[in-house]
Amino acid sequence: MTLRLERGTFTTTFTQRLKELSGQDLFTCYQCGKCSAGCPSASVMETPPHAVVRLAWLGQEKALRGLNTYWLCAACLTCDLRCPKGIDVSRIMEALRVMFLRPREEPDMVAPDSLPKDMLSRIPQQALVAGLRKYTK
Ligand code: SF4
Ligand code: SF4
Repeated sequence: MTLRLERGTFTTTFTQRLKELSGQDLFTCYQCGKCSAGCPSASVMETPPHAVVRLAWLGQEKALRGLNTYWLCAACLTCDLRCPKGIDVSRIMEALRVMFLRPREEPDMVAPDSLPKDMLSRIPQQALVAGLRKYTK
């Protein structure tokens, strides 16, 4: 993919919104790759976390849409601990999930009413809430 870098490339509405939602300054990333090197899900991600951060600060919404990276993120926070620039990459992943899930026209990916009752009594509350946050609007 060839990108033409111009002043406007870095000030897209998408990038601003991502910055607001994640609370992270994407532009401090210097692409060292430490986040990806420690990520337990990186081997199955289509694009590793550091590359997602780069696409994000380049405002590449189209390229980011549909990637499996932020859906496969286990929110383990390893990347946050490893980043020498103090960027919480996990928050960027969460913000991307929210941004791509909210405008969806399709129904939610999890319908609370369809969950088996016996499972509801066994599943850890935190896992249930996290799942609903991740897969519903
Ligand atoms: S560890 Fe931090 S600085 Fe390095 S590539 Fe990842 S986000 Fe960027
Ligand atoms: S929080 Fe997500 S992106 Fe970061 S290391 Fe864990 S699985 Fe990978």
